[in-house]
Amino acid sequence: MQAPPISVNDIICTIRDSGHRVTNGKRAVADILHNSSAHLTVEELVLAVRKIEPDINQSTIYRILEEFEELGLVVHSHLGASAAVYHLAGQSHAHLVCDRCGSTQEVPASRFDLIARELLEEFSFTLDRHHVALSGLCAHCRENVEKK
Ligand SMILES: [Zn+2]
Ligand SMILES: [Zn+2]
Ligand SMILES: [Zn+2]
Repeated sequence: MQAPPISVNDIICTIRDSGHRVTNGKRAVADILHNSSAHLTVEELVLAVRKIEPDINQSTIYRILEEFEELGLVVHSHLGASAAVYHLAGQSHAHLVCDRCGSTQEVPASRFDLIARELLEEFSFTLDRHHVALSGLCAHCRENVEKK
């Protein structure tokens, strides 16, 4: 089972409960991550936050993201060679990235239960299903390869 997505209010409460200050910048970042179904790079986040808080600088947003990650509110993932992307925790899934066209697919993290258990039992290794994407060929690109 996936955890239900967290609301902006949950995020604000978590920040407050942990004794941190709630700033307009944090509110803006929470709002944007909550309203976006996509994966956002720091650059995209900065552009979006500046529409709400024009004076915020990039290093502040980095610090906000770090704080959100420490509080378990946000996770980031590396999709191939591109910049890390951020989204809210509780939408955990694995990523498949196509080496040719760069398209990204999301796979429920539960699909990796079996391999995760085997890696743990045989290698005492805990698999992180989300942090780094799996690379390969998407269905579309495979078709093109086979035609040639
Ligand atoms: Zn990372
Ligand atoms: Zn993702
Ligand atoms: Zn492809």
